[in-house]
Amino acid sequence: MRTLIRGGTVLSSTGAATADVLVDGETIAAVAAPGVFTEADTVLDATGRYVLPGGIDAHTHMEMPFGGTFSADTFETGTRAAAWGGTTTIIDFAVQAKGTSLLSTLDKWHEKAEGDCAIDYGFHMIVSDVNDGTLKEMESCVDSGVSSFKMFMAYPGVFYSTDGEILRAMHKATETGATIMMHAENGIAIDQLVARALAEGKGEPVQHGLTRPPELEGEATSRAITLAKVTGAPLYIVHLSAAQALAAVAQARDEGQNVFAETCPQYLYLSIEDLAKPDFEGAKYVASPPLREKHHQADLWRGLRTNDLSVVSTDHCPFCFKDQKELGRGDFSKIPNGMPGVEHRMDLLHQGVVAGEISLARWVEACSTTPARMFGLYPRKGVLAPGSDADIVIYDPAAEQTLSAATHHMAVDYSAYEGMTITGKVDTVLSRGRVVVDGGEYHGSAGHGRFLSRDLCQYLG
Ligand SMILES: [Zn+2]
Repeated sequence: MRTLIRGGTVLSSTGAATADVLVDGETIAAVAAPGVFTEADTVLDATGRYVLPGGIDAHTHMEMPFGGTFSADTFETGTRAAAWGGTTTIIDFAVQAKGTSLLSTLDKWHEKAEGDCAIDYGFHMIVSDVNDGTLKEMESCVDSGVSSFKMFMAYPGVFYSTDGEILRAMHKATETGATIMMHAENGIAIDQLVARALAEGKGEPVQHGLTRPPELEGEATSRAITLAKVTGAPLYIVHLSAAQALAAVAQARDEGQNVFAETCPQYLYLSIEDLAKPDFEGAKYVASPPLREKHHQADLWRGLRTNDLSVVSTDHCPFCFKDQKELGRGDFSKIPNGMPGVEHRMDLLHQGVVAGEISLARWVEACSTTPARMFGLYPRKGVLAPGSDADIVIYDPAAEQTLSAATHHMAVDYSAYEGMTITGKVDTVLSRGRVVVDGGEYHGSAGHGRFLSRDLCQYLG
């Protein structure tokens, strides 16, 4: 079965060229000058459109347990929504509960995802119980294709690790070549600010932002970088939201340390003003780190341009406004933390191209090529080249669309971008050679997506 994508502008992390893409089965057979190939079983006309490697969202939480509930998207609904938005790979997080082993956790997450995913998927491992057994198991995880471990400096009593525990895990990461991913917020200090606000009767959603000030993200980021320096571990800061944290990352990178960071569309486009929306509506925007003052956005766009921010992921972790966010009415500390976004990452970052914040090549790089390299999937993913998986997006850069819960495909009852009109829209999506979205219709199926066993980070020497 051969598919020819003809007449489009083929994008990569280094630029754009008019070319045709020939797909044979599940992989790309050739990227060639227009007209070189004429024979195929299916011909897709991409005239006037971009042809780019499918998006890789390296940070999602499908059906994740949190505070007695679960994030609203299952692997089935969440990966379908991702495909609609031009994302053809997700890397989700297996979550170690305290007192359980990493390998039993991994088994559990394989069970959840297997047979359900519309697109390919991998796992990171959340380490919340550092002990001799866990550290030993990190080796087996790496051997099983789970080569990155997330730790938390926030959420004391739940996911939180002490500096000593982080140090131990980092030593193991150095030994195995694995990457430590860090949620960098000073949770010990934050918990005191939260208790103080609640004691003063301040329970509304905006307090979530006010009790997690950017300085405490900056401080934790610096501390994580220091621990990584001492141990030699590669470090990847997740969902960086604050200028203070960016400055710490930039300095470490300037000094040659293996420190990387991602940001998310919500930090580029939304602000604490959204958290302050009246009538509990701010709860829709509760995620950690919190949405910041608007002036941070310009710093984050600059960080994307300078590569101090290398990746854009979503931290997709949707909770319905009704029933789930409701749990925190009157007490912001009980609002489930997380926002939906897996469907709109490619579109929102393309909007950054339209606005002149980033180049087309940088769009592809931050949303596909770099996440592939960062998490050991390149060149199978992240590039349109002979032999690569045929994960391909045909994108109409001129189409207009308005984001809304009424039209999105995520299993959540609100959109964080309700009413926002953007330029650019996905036309067609191929996952390993199969058309899964085309012209507003879904042709994918649960179970098409396969588990991706990942290598180590490909930015290390
Ligand atoms: Zn997350």
